[in-house]
Amino acid sequence: MSKVPGCSPCGSGVLTDLGIPLEKFHAPSEGDAIFTSAVEYFTAEGFFISSEKVGLAAGASQPQLSAHRAKFHSTLLAECLRVLGQEKVILNSRFTQLESFEDHVILHFEKTTTKDPMPPVRCDFAVGADGLKSRVCRALLGDGAPRYTGRMIYRGLCEVEAIHADGCTVSLCGHENGNFICYPISEGMREKGQFLCNWGLCVLRTHPGGEEKWTSEATLEEIREELEEFGGNRFAGLTPLQLAERTEKIIGWSLFDRDPLESFDFGSVTLLGDAAHPLLPYGSQGATQAIMDAEALGVSYQNAMAKGTGIRGCVKEYSDLRCEVTGKVVIANRDMGSTAVLRVAAVETQGMAVDEKRTWCAEHGKRLHDEVIQKYRASMPKSVRAVAER
Ligand SMILES: Cc1cc2nc3c(=O)[nH]c(=O)nc-3n(C[C@H](O)[C@H](O)[C@H](O)COP(=O)(O)OP(=O)(O)OC[C@H]3O[C@@H](n4cnc5c(N)ncnc54)[C@H](O)[C@@H]3O)c2cc1C
Repeated sequence: MSKVPGCSPCGSGVLTDLGIPLEKFHAPSEGDAIFTSAVEYFTAEGFFISSEKVGLAAGASQPQLSAHRAKFHSTLLAECLRVLGQEKVILNSRFTQLESFEDHVILHFEKTTTKDPMPPVRCDFAVGADGLKSRVCRALLGDGAPRYTGRMIYRGLCEVEAIHADGCTVSLCGHENGNFICYPISEGMREKGQFLCNWGLCVLRTHPGGEEKWTSEATLEEIREELEEFGGNRFAGLTPLQLAERTEKIIGWSLFDRDPLESFDFGSVTLLGDAAHPLLPYGSQGATQAIMDAEALGVSYQNAMAKGTGIRGCVKEYSDLRCEVTGKVVIANRDMGSTAVLRVAAVETQGMAVDEKRTWCAEHGKRLHDEVIQKYRASMPKSVRAVAER
């Protein structure tokens, strides 16, 4: 499918294979996503370390998408309604509990808005795709609390009247304990020479406390000093602090993941996406791996129906295809994924004078590209169909 194995084009390839034209995600009047061309890495002072081409620019057959989450969801929802029909998509319902039997499952829901219980649903097969705080996972495995990383990411969105680089580039700067990312997420604005800038600052923070505090609105003052450290960097002419100053609302997300599971096989129930393997937001893998799970589940279902092994055969094959490989992504992302290049550069240049650092980055960028960035990319799981077609 893609010449860049395991990279985000694998995810967009699954979507096009489902029959969703890429234009739906890309057109400014619809998904408005950028076709991302590159990821570039800078030190905290603003020295260029390395860059990697991604998506079509890297020779993949499908693009890497950078999108506004709500617009991406709206595109998917519209396609689900078109393909499945209105009556199959039931919103405003929260899963609360399940009862698992030999050949069926009973699921319980409540109305999200009113918490009124809804009639139980009997089904042959259930897939929990309910994210990091998955209730389905909790119902299957008990209350194993997610693991706090000691880090928080502050996110914001702002508009800039100029583009950065080619208008399709993701930029990162910093080091292990403080790093900043920004990238464009509106094709419509890019075409007008503007930049709808999605930015994030990842920094060390103590445990936030109860679940309700994992995500909260933040003030610029909480992060001003940390942003000032990156003042030597300019994106579309602005420093990270200046981008944050243009931002109306800043949200802080405490970063959690879970230890990899031993199996996704729970008889007639399975897990998918962050519910199965919550990923730290490095390397653009979270959404990609969730979509690739769905692809593997579809392939396993077709195979099981053809072989007559039923739902249990399907769940077992899916678990065999995806549990171990996604567990490796969880571990690789704990080590910062491709962003680890910032840590390696900071550690190896520690104590150097400014000019010496600049020269070191120019001399060692290619090595870090191969040893850190490409090593991570090459270790990402491959599309199950691409593997089967070989
Ligand atoms: C700050 C931050 C930035 C990120 N940035 C990126 C990025 O740039 N690129 C990337 O690829 N990944 C990124 N990720 C990771 C990415 O968001 C996740 O890996 C991805 O969303 C996982 O998809 P999912 O469908 O499994 O879970 P989710 O996107 O979490 O979706 C779960 C859904 O289940 C619903 N739900 C929850 N509980 C229930 C219930 N009881 N009943 C019914 N429905 C329920 C939720 O409302 C939600 O709609 C980021 C994560 C964070 C925290």
